[in-house]
Order: sequence, then structure tokens, then C-alpha cells
Amino acid sequence: MKTIQDYLENGAIDIAPFLSLVLDKSSAELILNNNYQLTFDEKSCIDSLVLQREKGVPFAYLSGSRGFYHLDFKVTPDTLIPRPETELLIDIALELSNANKALKVLDLGTGSGIIAVTLKDKNPHWQVSATDFSNKALEVARSNATTQIEFLQGSWFEPVTNQSFDLIISNPPYIEENDAHLDDLSFEPICALTAGKDGLDDIRIIVDQAPEYLEKNGFLLLEHGHDQQDRIVELLKQKFNNIQTFKDYNSKDRAILAQCK
Ligand code: GLN
Repeated sequence: MKTIQDYLENGAIDIAPFLSLVLDKSSAELILNNNYQLTFDEKSCIDSLVLQREKGVPFAYLSGSRGFYHLDFKVTPDTLIPRPETELLIDIALELSNANKALKVLDLGTGSGIIAVTLKDKNPHWQVSATDFSNKALEVARSNATTQIEFLQGSWFEPVTNQSFDLIISNPPYIEENDAHLDDLSFEPICALTAGKDGLDDIRIIVDQAPEYLEKNGFLLLEHGHDQQDRIVELLKQKFNNIQTFKDYNSKDRAILAQCK
């Protein structure tokens, strides 16, 4: 028989999150109940999760959820796992409007829906649409929505022809297709990560087409790779003004905001 304490003392990996997940107890509750003996089923469930984690499956895919901003999101292997860096986009977007103006917002490549859902949850009066190429990702995004969001299937702007927005926001794929760091991301959907040789294929499409879908002075806000900022500024110059750049909490260039001319 094994108690919580036995696990906490002997785990080769950080075992507490697995105990919390399977026993549905907070870390404090684990400590308070450290003499609790796990049932056979609980023990085999933990052993199987630990085995998968040791093979490299990200914890978020084992638990099926990941926190982002102020909410918890369902995630599956059909969606990217939310990154803390992406919270920067939310901070920037929330600063954009004075409280009264109801922005019309489009989130491109929404994945699990973190950007669209967080913005709409913070500003229920905004009108938020979100597109994704993947139907499976959209299913996850829909299940994450706390309020009414229009989810549409299609590549980038395809499903929103003839519409225009005050803010277009995206965390598109931006990793170079031969980037060595992809080996560490092998459980996540590759189509959500890579964008051609220089990682800019999708950003070029978005920058090129966004003006057609933006109101005059409408905003485009993009997450990007740490070494792509200068090249994206160049792409934006022709049709955008007031280009502002932002660093993430690791002081890496990570986001760019521009206003349509
Ligand atoms: N920021 C992620 C990473 O580098 C990639 C996300 C993306 O391509 N949009 O792991």
C-alpha cells in the first residue's frame, strides 16, 4: 500500500500535480491528508500518467487543461498548449479601448480559443469572432467559451469575407520549419507551430490581407518569434502607422501592434 506521503517523498518527477489531478485535491489538501492510502485504481492511474509524462507527453495534455490569464482552458493534442507569453497580447488588447467602446474583434487561428474567450470574458460587450482551419481545434474552442463568440472554420480571413473589425489579433504559427526547438514540441500540432523556412509565411499573409478587414485606424496585434520583429515592422510599414513593439516577461521581442492607415 502507498500513501500520499510515500509518493511525495519518492517521486523522481514532481509528483504532486499528478496526485492533485487523480485525487482531486489541492497541494495543501495533499499535505493535510498525507497518510491517505491510495486505492488500487488511483495508484494505477497515477502510474500510467507518470509513464506517459516520462515519455514526454506535456502535463497539460494529461490533465486536459491549462490556466491562461484568469481562466482555465480545456486543451487537447489538437490545440497548442497556452503559453504565458501570449498573455501579453491580452494586456495590450485590453489597454486599447476606453471602457465604453464595444470593439469588434477577430482572433485568427484561435486554437483552444484562449485569446477570443479571454477578451470576451473581460469585455462581454465586445463582439468577438474567431477563425481556425482545424475543426477539431474549434470544437475545443467552443467548449471553452464562457459567452457568445462566433467561431468560424477556414484559413485566416476566408470565413469573414466582407466584414471589418476594430482589432485583428493573432498568435499564428511562427517557428522556422527546421528549428531545433521543435524536437521539444513534438506532441503539439505542427501546423500550429511552423510557418515555412523563416517562420513568417503566415504572418506575411495576415499582414498583407488584414487591411481589407480593418476599419480605418483599426489595430493589428500579432505575437511573433523573438528574432522576427524588425522584419515584421518592414512588412507593416506600407499599409500601417503607429507601429509599436513589445517584449515578453523574459525581455524577448514578442508582440507588435500597428494601426491601419
Ligand atoms: N511560442 C511558441 C513556442 O515557441 C510557439 C507558438 C507559435 O508558433 N505561435 O513554443
